[in-house]
Amino acid sequence: MGSHPMPTMPVVAILALQGAFEEHHQMLHRLGVETMEIRQLADLDRHFDGLVIPGGESTTMSCLLDTRGMREPLRQRILGGLPVFGTCAGLILLSTSVYDENAVGEESSATMSPLGTMPVTALRNAYGRQLGSFRTQAQFCGQIVPMTFIRAPKLQTPLAADVEVIAEVQGEPVAVRFRNQMVTAFHPELDDSLEVHRYFVEEIIG
Ligand code: GLN
Repeated sequence: MGSHPMPTMPVVAILALQGAFEEHHQMLHRLGVETMEIRQLADLDRHFDGLVIPGGESTTMSCLLDTRGMREPLRQRILGGLPVFGTCAGLILLSTSVYDENAVGEESSATMSPLGTMPVTALRNAYGRQLGSFRTQAQFCGQIVPMTFIRAPKLQTPLAADVEVIAEVQGEPVAVRFRNQMVTAFHPELDDSLEVHRYFVEEIIG
């Protein structure tokens, strides 16, 4: 009782190749949404209404998409309108171009091929070593929400005219939307507020 999703609630898949996917299940379950995991090509044939690409290591996720033959099918699904929400490394994976702003350790030599479905440029590790991880709070759709940044990317500005800013920190975009795609540079699944996941479920999946 109580834990069953509403009949009208969508099923949200979470890309579970690597990274911080477990917390996304919990956030979505708290919204009454059913979740599943995408680990291999065959999982893409199951029914789901939206997809979360979590934070983690974008180079590793990119490699795994290739070795599991998932890159092009996933790209086509997103271009075909599948609602998708990328957090941090997920933002980097969805971007059209990626630059390594302040490469750390082995990341410096890693090459990164994004899916390129969202017309933004991601600047990886743009907060640098000193400010690698930090917490703040900012407006997200009229609510103040906590935001945790972990070796986060920045979005290069100016943004294309059809990319909508949903949240900013110190005048820089940290959450944006383009049609069926939304990305956050921060990790909303690591804080208590459900607002960002609610936005994805209600406004993007609809
Ligand atoms: N720095 C990581 C990358 O470039 C992203 C970090 C994260 O997802 N928290 O892929």
